[in-house]
Amino acid sequence: MPRDFLKGARDRYDVVVIGAGLAGLTAANTLGRAGRSVLLLEQHYKLGGMATWFKRPGGHIFDISLHGFPYGMVKSCRRYWTAEIADSIVQLKGIRFDNPMFSLTTTFNREDFSKLLIERFQIQPQVVNEFFDAARGMNFYDDQQATTRELFDRFFPGREDVIRLLMEPITYANGSTLEDPAISYGIVFSNFMSKGVFTFQGGTDRLIQLMEAELRRNGVDVRINANVERIDCTGGRVRSVTVNGRTIEAGAVLSNANLKHTIFSLVGEQHFDRSFVDDARAVRLNNSSTQVYMALKADDLLDESTGDLLFSSTAPVFRTELLLSRNITSRTYSFYYPRTRPQGRPRCLIVSSTNARYEDWAHLPEEEYQASKRDLCETTLDALDKYVPNVRQRVDHVEASTPRTFQHYTQHLAGASFGTKFEGLAVSRAIPQQIQGLYHAGSVGIIMSGWLGAMNYGVIVANEVDNGLMKLSTD
Ligand SMILES: Cc1cc2nc3c(=O)[nH]c(=O)nc-3n(C[C@H](O)[C@H](O)[C@H](O)COP(=O)(O)OP(=O)(O)OC[C@H]3O[C@@H](n4cnc5c(N)ncnc54)[C@H](O)[C@@H]3O)c2cc1C
Repeated sequence: MPRDFLKGARDRYDVVVIGAGLAGLTAANTLGRAGRSVLLLEQHYKLGGMATWFKRPGGHIFDISLHGFPYGMVKSCRRYWTAEIADSIVQLKGIRFDNPMFSLTTTFNREDFSKLLIERFQIQPQVVNEFFDAARGMNFYDDQQATTRELFDRFFPGREDVIRLLMEPITYANGSTLEDPAISYGIVFSNFMSKGVFTFQGGTDRLIQLMEAELRRNGVDVRINANVERIDCTGGRVRSVTVNGRTIEAGAVLSNANLKHTIFSLVGEQHFDRSFVDDARAVRLNNSSTQVYMALKADDLLDESTGDLLFSSTAPVFRTELLLSRNITSRTYSFYYPRTRPQGRPRCLIVSSTNARYEDWAHLPEEEYQASKRDLCETTLDALDKYVPNVRQRVDHVEASTPRTFQHYTQHLAGASFGTKFEGLAVSRAIPQQIQGLYHAGSVGIIMSGWLGAMNYGVIVANEVDNGLMKLSTD
């Protein structure tokens, strides 16, 4: 008989959270702490969603999305998780750029970037200051029509090199492009510029383990291998979810699954207004990624001057098209030294990431797909040799993932690494007005994505769920 992953689960909870990505985990924890009975359902056999890792023979552990996040994570983890989690966040100080326009190393904060822009790129100090202030002053209620390209043209007309310095890391950090609203750039850029780029000491596996322990302490009922097939709504109100063939009732349902998947597959468009459905259909998904995971043989140590994050490109200029093309010219390398996971034999790992389009990989016949993955590994090793000499002789394990891999493990439509484009946020926020008791939290709209954005969005929505339940009980 197949194992019952819902054994002992109750028939009703105050809240059912669908999906254990960082938004779902943080929302469930917030609601558990608030004294709500919470059931957290995750379809995969691991918690974390895109914040995940995998192990390979030889003791190698690869992180998928632990490349860098802003300092704000410290505050969010301390407030919404535990001091132990917050205290494990450390700065990555070696951020490198190498492209035909410039090669440099930076700590990636306002002070160092201002110095670079003024001394190396010869921009007037006043312009640099005004640019930083304009980026920092942006908020959600600002004009959302101006594009990032227009913002740059205002401050640095004709300076493709400056645009590249300012934009390349943010494109990598949240998938935004020059064509996206300037606000999606300004907020994320300013978040990073406040103090630099940070990581989690101990790796994603340790983070998720600590989060799971905290969820259980707060009484959250956590279930893996629990695939929600349907969110059941009648009379304009959410009633229950159907999971692994069982119906579980809930006062509120918070979906951390992909926004469009939630609306069109889990709920069904017949439950929403026509104009809402039109808006939801028009939401564009963000792009996806390919990655190549490389482990050096145990005890083969990389020199730390190699850097922590390296934005490399052979393209003469910075263009969205070039970043997404299957003919790869840009790779962002994350170098993981033994300090990432100090236990066990010293190991160095490298993950190369490149933005990618789902359509370029989705329909390849199996043989061609496998050949393309091999080619991705080979060309990446060729490119990496410039920074890690003799890398082919030094690697113990190499493998690749594609947009198909991300879709497979998280059910995120088109394997979108950062959820939806900007317009997804308004649709996500409007769901509770459409169906009472139904909420969505997760990567939408660039600002609410990435580790920090997803986590904070989870808290915002959890508080709304709590208020909604309170109101319901007093009505
Ligand atoms: C390659 C890559 C690199 C990245 N690098 C960074 C980085 O360096 N810094 C950074 O800040 N961010 C990075 N990100 C982005 C970041 O990881 C994500 O934005 C964030 O983790 C998303 O969290 P989320 O809560 O929105 O949901 P997700 O992580 O997408 O989780 C959603 C969860 O819902 C589950 N689910 C879906 N449908 C169902 C269902 N029907 N029933 C039950 N469960 C369901 C999924 O299995 C999944 O666990 C990266 C992402 C990728 C892919």
